[in-house]
Amino acid sequence: MAPELQAKIYQGKAKEVWSTTDPDQVVLRFTDAATAFNGVKKASIDEKGALNLAMSVKLFDVVSDAGVPTHVVESLNDTDLLCHRVTILPVEVVVRSVVAGSFAKRYGLEEGMLLDQPLVELFHKSDDLDDPLVNDDAAVALGWAKHWELQCMKELALQTHAALSAFWGAHGITLVDAKYEFGRTAAGALVLADELTPDGCRLWEQGTQRKLDKDVFRRDLADLGDTYRELHERVFGS
Ligand code: UDP
Repeated sequence: MAPELQAKIYQGKAKEVWSTTDPDQVVLRFTDAATAFNGVKKASIDEKGALNLAMSVKLFDVVSDAGVPTHVVESLNDTDLLCHRVTILPVEVVVRSVVAGSFAKRYGLEEGMLLDQPLVELFHKSDDLDDPLVNDDAAVALGWAKHWELQCMKELALQTHAALSAFWGAHGITLVDAKYEFGRTAAGALVLADELTPDGCRLWEQGTQRKLDKDVFRRDLADLGDTYRELHERVFGS
């Protein structure tokens, strides 16, 4: 039987974390909030929480089948995901297959250039600092992760990205880039954590390059709810 919810222990921008009657498990609640530019732009999008939870569960299954350990236990209802309790490392792993976003800006490139192979970048998870780019030596020196943990996170992120690229590719969509977060279990193992949703990656329709992710909201390109409903339909075929 699933444990019961106890108290909200963390309020994120689009998710809440709840403790449960099992000290080793927490519940992630997916809300309808959409935010961009570190919370400066905000909106409530009808059904977003349920759509993102459904897509997340499917995508965690895909990466789990590819051999990546994850924090997911099971979904409890439309908005709640039961997860193993982990400590999130303050290092975000971004994998890029195609030039876009901050990478395009930093190097003065046009969005859309295909990279020879996926590359990995690390960012320090800090709202106060706007998630600055960080290199391995700094992340280790500042105690954010051990050297072996960074190596492991990079390998797992690439493995995750390959599995998700194949999945989206089969649905006529290119996975341009994505941000992955990892957690440390009580036993010290690393697992893929957080969410796998169009809030944390870029998805472009093959052929048209139409954007089907949170850039729609960041750049006011279309209705985010309609976009996520379309993605959900493509994934689940209904
Ligand atoms: N990303 C994210 N959260 C962040 C920063 C980035 O989910 O705090 C995702 C973003 O949606 C994109 C990828 O990571 O899929 C790379 O983002 P980028 O560095 O290009 O930054 P952005 O242009 O989104 O600010």
